[in-house]
Amino acid sequence: SARVSPPRVGLPDSSLFLPQMERTFIAIKPDGVQRGLVIDRPNKFIASCSLLRKILKPSGYNNQISEIISRFERKGFKLVGIKIMVPSKGFTQKHYHDLKEKPFFNGLCNFLSSGPVVAMVWEGEGVIRYGRKLIGATDPQKSEPGTIRGDLAVVVGRNIIHGSDGPESAKDEISMWFKPEELVSYTNNADKWIYG
Ligand code: ADP
Repeated sequence: SARVSPPRVGLPDSSLFLPQMERTFIAIKPDGVQRGLVIDRPNKFIASCSLLRKILKPSGYNNQISEIISRFERKGFKLVGIKIMVPSKGFTQKHYHDLKEKPFFNGLCNFLSSGPVVAMVWEGEGVIRYGRKLIGATDPQKSEPGTIRGDLAVVVGRNIIHGSDGPESAKDEISMWFKPEELVSYTNNADKWIYG
């Protein structure tokens, strides 16, 4: 029987057309938020997204988009979750539990819980590994120019962004920071031009 395929654009469930893509957890730390690096440029994406508008307006950065978000977006990765929150100290200790023996652990957790963090989930082929490349080395002094930390940060204790360092941590961090229903699967028009 003749079955008409639904259009790809804007469908709520991309799994009809694409395999489940890799996902990573990215967070803009309080320094990145305070320095106005969340939202930097006019972009129609913000204008078309009422949830983001609501989040961003109180910060006074409405109608503009992140210096950071735009780098992931232009690459071809897909934003599937975003929220702004102040994590508790205990939450940040759980997030960074691998580092609990480090001398900077307490300062790091105090810092990460000191103000609003923009938590995100990005999706795409190779997004975990390549997301780390976009971010740059842990120490901004060692990050290449062109990377987020290389271009925008100076010291390791204020390196403005976090990114999961592998598939295991990506999975753990996504489930820690987001409920499943806070993440969306969707196709967009560019997918077929990005992936062929
Ligand atoms: P990354 O964030 O690049 O994955 P790590 O997981 O090693 O790096 O460290 C987590 C965070 O801890 C870093 O992003 C940085 O904010 C902080 N950090 C790492 N090393 C130091 C250090 N020597 N002094 C202070 N803070 C540090």
